Amino acid sequence: MEYNADNVFAKILRGEIPSQTIYEDDHALAFYDINPKAKIHALVISKGMFTDYNDFINHSSDDEIAAFSRAILKTAELIGVAKDGYRIVFNTGKNSGQEVPHLHAHILGGEPLSTDL
Ligand code: AMP
Repeated sequence: MEYNADNVFAKILRGEIPSQTIYEDDHALAFYDINPKAKIHALVISKGMFTDYNDFINHSSDDEIAAFSRAILKTAELIGVAKDGYRIVFNTGKNSGQEVPHLHAHILGGEPLSTDL
């Protein structure tokens, strides 16, 4: 899939749509999900133009992958879920129901999560 810069997360990165920033570095931006699916629900998005996890892993550098992974944990710590536990979700492609075609990790926590994945 070609990257399309009209997506909502590209607009957030350009400052065209507001978001509640939790964490930001050279590679990633984290903010709260507008429609939380758990008591605490954050999103970590890449600053690179990757459509999904496949695209990211296939076309980014090891440094970018490491930095993004660290940004996820940093965000989990900042929103207070790191200690008691959380779920990381990368919806990827059609069967996952991915809605926004820009790489993002969901961090869900703040309460016991359903064990039905
Ligand atoms: P996915 O289905 O994995 O693509 O998830 C997209 C997520 O983005 C959903 O959980 C939405 O609630 C969330 N979302 C969509 N628009 C916004 C927005 N403007 N700010 C924050 N989260 C958003």
